[in-house]
Amino acid sequence: MSANLSRSKRDEKRRAARLAELKPFLVPGWQISSDNLRVVAVATVLGFYQRGQEMLLKCGRRDCHRRVEIDFRAAVQAGRGDQPPQHLIQALRCGHWDGCKLEEVSAIYPKGVPLVAYLNDKDVLIAIACEQCPARVLLPPRAIIERLKQARRGDGSTGILELGRRIRGPCRRCGGREFRSEVLPPKAPGRR
Ligand SMILES: [Zn+2]
Ligand SMILES: [Zn+2]
Repeated sequence: MSANLSRSKRDEKRRAARLAELKPFLVPGWQISSDNLRVVAVATVLGFYQRGQEMLLKCGRRDCHRRVEIDFRAAVQAGRGDQPPQHLIQALRCGHWDGCKLEEVSAIYPKGVPLVAYLNDKDVLIAIACEQCPARVLLPPRAIIERLKQARRGDGSTGILELGRRIRGPCRRCGGREFRSEVLPPKAPGRR
């Protein structure tokens, strides 16, 4: 029993350390999971709203085919922020005589996956490439977030697709001021 107690204390310590380590990079809509200490999306209506996610639903009934884009902002304002999106989907069902078949089709980030989501993988690098020459810089997500915050041009919520436009430059090689960004996943065997 005392062994269990010390283990839970140790877990508590690890969690606190991980929280302190990642806190500067977290943004609203994201949290540290208590089991595996990874950065995870908050699975509530408020979380979806804060992350700027767009969720598309479609009804599978042949004679309905309704298409719904959830208005997370309105749902938060109506006091549904702490509910899971599933509750909204239920409330948006149509009155089909055989029951609505409204289902989630996609939940996307229009500006690309937020940088905070890449903090889980130590080996992921983000490439900032010049649009006018072959120069490119590879940096871990943390370094990118730190630089964005320093320059007041973004933070962990910045999407990977909009990142390039937030880089001021100039390019060290050609002086260019236009950049694009991409994620380089680790190429370890057995992954991806
Ligand atoms: Zn329907
Ligand atoms: Zn260049």
